[in-house]
Amino acid sequence: MSSDPFRDIINDTCELLRQSAKGRNRVVHLSPEVAQQLDARKTPVPPASPQPTGQTAVAVPGAPLASLQAEVTACTKCELSRTRTQTVFGDGSPTAKLVFVGEAPGADEDRQGVPFVGRAGQLLTDIIEKGMKLRRGDVFICNVLKCRPPGNRNPLPSEVEQCEPYLIRQLEALRPAVICALGKYAAQTLLKTNAPIGRLRGRWHFYHGIPLRATYHPAYLLRSPGEKRKTWEDVQEIMKVINGEVVPGQEP
Ligand code: SF4
Repeated sequence: MSSDPFRDIINDTCELLRQSAKGRNRVVHLSPEVAQQLDARKTPVPPASPQPTGQTAVAVPGAPLASLQAEVTACTKCELSRTRTQTVFGDGSPTAKLVFVGEAPGADEDRQGVPFVGRAGQLLTDIIEKGMKLRRGDVFICNVLKCRPPGNRNPLPSEVEQCEPYLIRQLEALRPAVICALGKYAAQTLLKTNAPIGRLRGRWHFYHGIPLRATYHPAYLLRSPGEKRKTWEDVQEIMKVINGEVVPGQEP
């Protein structure tokens, strides 16, 4: 303990922030007063992006999604690199509590470089914004495959095998509170199972300790609107976890 108790509290706070953000690409928002005290004892790091008024950012080292994205953009590991217009890495907040994982980019996504645009994307946006009352920019959305299979055919096992390490590293960097797997391919890839989506949905699974809920892909819901009710039930369970009302695995 030093002769300055306030300085000791600041030191401890710095250490706690470092510990809690360890291994993540996070920005911690602080009041100007606290940031000033922290900056007095360390070399300030410029913020990665503009911060809300009245807040100062201290960048915490971690696995940066940006460098992973650059790797994916240059990837030629599988044949899909020959037919894609561009890679579709993912979109959303690097501090998202909720990550959606779909199957692969379609024609619209391949053209725009953004996941879940087009009709299925609009339905996912409605699920997020109208159903969950979140902003699309608050979550992170990506796919198992980062390149479009020609003609929107199903992903080949060899393509999933080649591309999955990127997804694993994305989820490692994001460390969300909840993962929502959209459709059979995402659920089966993440959970290493061949079980059908109808048997995987409706209950909690875990992906490296992160609660995972599988539900129907929005493209399937457009073809089978009668199943929307089940996805709505899955979404409500996800919201209970995000809101801290339920801890998966410890439900009554
Ligand atoms: S699908 Fe994945 S593994 Fe194949 S080229 Fe694209 S980024 Fe690389």
